[in-house]
Amino acid sequence: MIRINPVPLPLAPGAKATGAPVLSEHVQRVVHFLAGQAGLSVDGFSIDGGHAVAKVSRDGRMSSVRIPRGTDHYVRANLRGEFVRVAQALNGRATYYCPTCGSTDITFDAQVRWDRESSALVLLEMLNSPWCGGCSDTIPEASFGEVGHE
Ligand SMILES: [Zn+2]
Repeated sequence: MIRINPVPLPLAPGAKATGAPVLSEHVQRVVHFLAGQAGLSVDGFSIDGGHAVAKVSRDGRMSSVRIPRGTDHYVRANLRGEFVRVAQALNGRATYYCPTCGSTDITFDAQVRWDRESSALVLLEMLNSPWCGGCSDTIPEASFGEVGHE
C-alpha cells in the first residue's frame, strides 16, 4: 500500500492553519487527471469543514468534490466515480429519481452552512430517506443516473 506523502495545502490569506487538511502534489495531479477524464476542469482547492475540496466546473457550471483521505488506490477509485457523477450532473443528463416509481420529484433534507466568502449556502450533507412526490412518501434512498433517453 502506498501512503500519500502529506504536504500542506496552500491556505488563503487570513485562513487559519489549525486543523487544515493536507493534500500532496501527487494527489493534486491525480485530481486534475481524473477530473479531466470526466470532462471537468479543476478551478482550485479549498478547505471545507476540515476536508480538502476540489472546485470543478464544466461549461461555466460549477460544483465541488470533497477529496477523501486514504491510500492512493482508495482516493483514485473514490474520486473517479465522484467526478463522473458531477460531470453528468453538470451536463444536465443525470438526475435523482425514485427507484420504485421513477419520479424525479425528490426532496432531500440536508445540512447546509452559510459561507461568508462566497456568500452562498454550502451543502454539507444530504440526509437519507428523501421524500418522493410520486409515491407521496419517504423512500429509503433515491437513485442517481440518467433517465428517459428521448
Ligand atoms: Zn416514488
